[in-house]
Amino acid sequence: MEQIENIQTVTSHLDKVQVKTGRLAIVIPVYQEGNHIRASIGEIRRILIEHCIDYEFILVDDGSTDNTWEQLAALACENKNITALRLTRNFGKEAAVCAGLEYADTEVLLVMDSDLQHPPELIPEMYRYWQEGYEVVEGIKSDRGKEGVFYKFCSEIFYRFLSKTSSIDLKNASDFKLLDKKVIEAWKRMPERTTFFRGMAAWVGFLRKQLAFEVRNRTTGQSKWSFLRLLKLAVGAMTSYTTVPLHFITIMGFIMFLLFLILGGQTLYMKLSGQALDGFTTVILLLLIIGSSVMISLGIIGIYLSKIYHEVKGRPRYLIADGIREGEKIC
Ligand code: UDP
Ligand code: MG
Repeated sequence: MEQIENIQTVTSHLDKVQVKTGRLAIVIPVYQEGNHIRASIGEIRRILIEHCIDYEFILVDDGSTDNTWEQLAALACENKNITALRLTRNFGKEAAVCAGLEYADTEVLLVMDSDLQHPPELIPEMYRYWQEGYEVVEGIKSDRGKEGVFYKFCSEIFYRFLSKTSSIDLKNASDFKLLDKKVIEAWKRMPERTTFFRGMAAWVGFLRKQLAFEVRNRTTGQSKWSFLRLLKLAVGAMTSYTTVPLHFITIMGFIMFLLFLILGGQTLYMKLSGQALDGFTTVILLLLIIGSSVMISLGIIGIYLSKIYHEVKGRPRYLIADGIREGEKIC
């Protein structure tokens, strides 16, 4: 009798941990990768077929000027599980990822780069974790690949600052992420125009699993991120997730006021006690300090203001020029 009860408990437990199944949509932003996109897609498909994962690709051409669109269009015509979208111009990787996420309508979705720097061999494992119930499975860079010391130093500062000043920790985070439909639905409820996929995917929460991966070196083509472009992304991300710089200005203001009281008091005392001032050193120093701190403060406020300006305009994040699915034009 007791044995039967035990068996019943085990079966009811198994019912609860029933694995999920569903088609995996793979969203890939593509920019100026005409020469090797076909090879990359071939490699990813090979792995998916080998592991019997039902899949579809959503390839978003982010306004490339080389033969990328011709390649994507040909791929979409040849394979019915490849959809190709083309943005009207280069809106940036973030916008291309948005277009893919908004277009997809599957139970689970994966975002990855087109240059195989995100190892496709990890996809089956990520998919298995999703089947076990995880809602976000994210690739974490165990090593940053062939990056200069300066880039490594800057990204370390950026991620530290962000994790200290906001509730999200993005250390070594990447855009290589598998997301459950629930997460995409939550993401769609975030209406901001300036998006930072990594930050938004961390902000939403949900049951998460992290997998470490080594960033491979690019085999062909070049990185599209210049230092200035990365800096723009970093400032955009920081001002999206933390208002600490604005509070910092207020604190700085108070400190400056305190200094002013002390120095002002001392200057007045010297004047009243008949001691002549030596020169303009103090005046010049004060002017410099106050001038620069006011400029910095105004600059920071300006960055936030420009973000508000962009948000209130409410422009679309991207515009789609063309779309091909199952060999047919969809837009
Ligand atoms: N990408 C994009 N739009 C851009 C720049 C890049 O869609 O304006 C895509 C690019 O094709 C690749 C991914 O974003 O699939 C990552 O780009 P890249 O390899 O240049 O970045 P890195 O690996 O150097 O960070
Ligand atoms: Mg890359």
